[in-house]
Amino acid sequence: MDIWSCQVKNAYDPKTRTIKLCYTIRMYAEVVLAKTSSFSDKVYHYSIPPNLVDKILVGAQVLIPFGPRSTVGYVIGLVGKADVEKVKDILEATSDHPLFTEKQVELAKWIADYYCSFFSSALKLVMGSGGKEQRAKIEDQNKSQGAKIKDPKIKLTDEQEAAFKAIKAAVEAKQTKTFLLHGITGSGKTEVYMRATAAVLEQGESAIILVPEIGLTPQIVERFRDRFGDQIAVLHSALTLKQRQIEWQRIKNKEAQIILGARSAIFAPVEKLGLVVIDEEYETTYKSDKSPRYHAREVSDFLAKQHKAVLVLGSATPSLETYYQTEQGKITKLVLSKRIDDRALPEVKIIDMREDRGFILSEQLRLELKTTIENKQQAILFINRRGYFTFIMCQKCGFTVECPQCAISLTYHTKEQKLRCHRCDYSTTPPRVCPQCNASAITYFGTGTQRIENEVATLIPGVRILRYDRDAVSKRGSHEVIFRTFAEGAADILIGTQMVTKGLDVANVTLVGVVSADTNLRLPDFRAAEHTFQLLTQVAGRAGRHHLPGKVIIQSYSPEHYAIQAAAKQDYELFYNQEIKHRQELGYPPFSKIISLTISGKEEAKVAQVAEELGELLKAELKQGVLGPASAPVPRVRGQWRYGMLVKTGELKVASSIVAQAINKLKSPKDVRVTIDVEPMGLV
Ligand code: ADP
Ligand code: ZN
Repeated sequence: MDIWSCQVKNAYDPKTRTIKLCYTIRMYAEVVLAKTSSFSDKVYHYSIPPNLVDKILVGAQVLIPFGPRSTVGYVIGLVGKADVEKVKDILEATSDHPLFTEKQVELAKWIADYYCSFFSSALKLVMGSGGKEQRAKIEDQNKSQGAKIKDPKIKLTDEQEAAFKAIKAAVEAKQTKTFLLHGITGSGKTEVYMRATAAVLEQGESAIILVPEIGLTPQIVERFRDRFGDQIAVLHSALTLKQRQIEWQRIKNKEAQIILGARSAIFAPVEKLGLVVIDEEYETTYKSDKSPRYHAREVSDFLAKQHKAVLVLGSATPSLETYYQTEQGKITKLVLSKRIDDRALPEVKIIDMREDRGFILSEQLRLELKTTIENKQQAILFINRRGYFTFIMCQKCGFTVECPQCAISLTYHTKEQKLRCHRCDYSTTPPRVCPQCNASAITYFGTGTQRIENEVATLIPGVRILRYDRDAVSKRGSHEVIFRTFAEGAADILIGTQMVTKGLDVANVTLVGVVSADTNLRLPDFRAAEHTFQLLTQVAGRAGRHHLPGKVIIQSYSPEHYAIQAAAKQDYELFYNQEIKHRQELGYPPFSKIISLTISGKEEAKVAQVAEELGELLKAELKQGVLGPASAPVPRVRGQWRYGMLVKTGELKVASSIVAQAINKLKSPKDVRVTIDVEPMGLV
């Protein structure tokens, strides 16, 4: 198709208004190398010999001469002119069908550009399993036999109906439109996702449903399967390559028009995309932690524009960035304000730990735990364990030391016995008495799971405790095993980290205890308050989900903090209105975009020197918004010293290219690496 349209264009003579037949045209292919390296991440031109004309299409894998050898490449475009004089011929077509489409090339270009990654890595990411499935037979028949959807037999509430209608209208009109489905836990968001999906199938299009982590959300998969049967494809990391290829093929053949999966499922090879749903879009798992460091929400945004599709972001606690866009009128907000059946939200109590000095579990929480177990009900204890960070706090008044320039908590560095800002490198000696209340109650924080487990075991002899953290998951096999053990009542108390905040829907859970709400709040990250609010709101939503009423106890040394207050009231707007002011004052997102740079290597002195050099180059070009360099919050990982730097900017494109140029100018030694993370989600 490309070849013919190109030939016709080239041979058309406007004067005589005729199309000359042209035998001599040699077409050229734009080829990228399959192997990634910094010097070869370019587009090369090759000519297409006549015998290969019908095989060399966009998406073809080819063998090309490269230097003294031949190597494998991918055709990403066809052009009429080459940019070099002596063009070499493509040697061979090594795939019997295209491995990616032009749309996917566009997407890869955007990813490489936006996230400052190699184009070939972006292309491989976008190709997904496609690149490895040459052997699978392609049957290009349209297998879609119309939608076979089970009748939901559920009457939507008025709010659900209104939300569904708005989404459906946009789907049917083929509008590129983003919605925020803002609904508290248990308000029926999933039901709306399923109805919207059905509407998309009716249009003969596909839908991609993204969840934060597939293992943590088995219930949503079950519900989709129940409604849509084998029209769904589930993509998750536990699939073998073979299984993945089969799913990939089912998607291509339109046997499966609904794709459920985590982050990378966004690259499923759908031809006609009608809808992308991102459940709990604020979750950090949507951001890739390896290059290309893409965010599924931003990729979805690009895809929605490309396919004229609808994007639905659903959450009780949307990210500040997303909510800000609804305030700006760029995203349409749909609200589900009530729980189904008007089930009450749990009763939330904040315990002021300043009055309970020295205990991990407050008297109130100990009492509630005992009562819950006596009543043969279950409890969840949520602890926040971020082992690397120690911060100091006054146990009497909750005072913590913040950086005067960056307004983030200072972290305590044991070796030098200093408090340090990992952002700007400001440092200070920890106070012995509290500067706020003069008490000698400065304490060093960092909580241990084991200690809490012991304490609970002593408190309630014979209680059955189940631990739920990464270690436990790897020991017991999977999330699902732990889920099931607890759901079946084989344990009384589930103690765990972040993982207990999500997905769990157990009728008999009536108590949720948050051991230390502050640990997260004091992380050296401008999103600390946001993450705390989201976590607390989500974990509170685990209690009393069915007929039994729930209770939530939040222990805190700073109970007056707006993130904790708002979470206790489950009031998003209360939180948002405060938080957005802080962001604006400090020029953090959504009022700016951020590029985070990490400089790492084996020798600290070299790393520091490169960081310094890069900092100077950037400051010379950017004048403002360059923070650091400073020793990273985790200064040494697996023997690598790390320095961090942030660029805050209103013009991401400009700043990105300045960063890229500066890195190119660096005379950095081979063993020092610079990593770029555009719009990072982690500790910044
Ligand atoms: P969310 O995704 O917002 O947490 P769900 O979609 O899981 O909420 O809904 C909570 C519960 O209510 C589920 O068990 C669901 O089947 C049920 N439900 C949803 N919508 C309705 C409705 N309109 N009528 C009756 N039950 C509903
Ligand atoms: Zn600072």
